[in-house]
Amino acid sequence: MAEIMYIVIPCYNEEEMLPITAKELMKKMDALKAQGRIDGKSKVMFVDDGSKDKTWQIIRQLHSLSDMFTGVKLSRNKGHQNALLAGLMTAKDYADIIVSMDADLQDDINAVDGFLDKRAEGCDIVYGVRSSREKDTAFKRNTAQAYYKILEKMGVEITYNHADYRLMSKRAVEALGEFEEVNLFLRGIVPMVGFKSDIVTYVRNERVAGESKYPLKKMIAFAVEGITSLSVKPIRFITFLGILVFLISLIMLIYFLVTWAAGDTVRGWASTITSVWAIGGLQLLAIGIIGEYIGKIYLETKARPKYIIETNLEENQ
Ligand code: UDP
Ligand code: MG
Repeated sequence: MAEIMYIVIPCYNEEEMLPITAKELMKKMDALKAQGRIDGKSKVMFVDDGSKDKTWQIIRQLHSLSDMFTGVKLSRNKGHQNALLAGLMTAKDYADIIVSMDADLQDDINAVDGFLDKRAEGCDIVYGVRSSREKDTAFKRNTAQAYYKILEKMGVEITYNHADYRLMSKRAVEALGEFEEVNLFLRGIVPMVGFKSDIVTYVRNERVAGESKYPLKKMIAFAVEGITSLSVKPIRFITFLGILVFLISLIMLIYFLVTWAAGDTVRGWASTITSVWAIGGLQLLAIGIIGEYIGKIYLETKARPKYIIETNLEENQ
């Protein structure tokens, strides 16, 4: 039986883009419905992230034009990730499966067919992965690639070249809702949900209209968020640095003792320098150890679910 699919789209000042996006999605949804791949009650849900332009008026217009379009409006601008989460949490009450995508159609909407194929194979989460980033600027491409590598080093489980274009089942979104953290980096949290998942590759396009809502400043903030909300490894680095500096001070001490024995020293210098390094190293080490505990507290305060049950035979009788 075909499932009810909601497509959730966060929109921030997208008045130029929305009419085009709506038209394309209407075609796509109609086709999918005609093929019987999705239920007739499937919809596109726009989330207005506190836009300052006519975005909300356009969403209301679309809604009055067709049942296929619906929307929610946030009380103010909360950023892409929060807007997306708001949409997912609202849509899960009406839908069986939820696809998230950007308003600018940079992600090929035809990849949804692939998503649905994977869903039919029993996947709860399907990640859209860009097969090439030729259409992105060289700067964005290179920084993004370097960033994925850093995240990997920090022990963050993340799908390479996957942004927030994905399909999730109702139960996967419900499980995601149990992650109570305020610092949101969805593409790092979704893999923690588990369940059977797969990827579908697609070619990423250029933004058709309007400008990127992610200027460099927001991009950097987002990147820092990704690391600090998912990894406590930077703290461990301080501990490592402390041990390293302390070891250097020991090596210096040995070196100075040897040169002293050889009778070649400046008075007072060796002891001063060695103690500067030794104390510095010990201080860094101490900060690192305190940091370890703060890291633990940090993870505790996130109150993440300790487990998510996929099947309970007691309930499935
Ligand atoms: N967006 C949002 N709130 C914001 C910034 C962006 O909801 O504060 C939405 C935006 O409307 C778009 C998506 O997030 O649908 C991705 O933004 P954009 O395409 O500008 O990012 P880029 O593709 O340049 O990384
Ligand atoms: Mg974009």
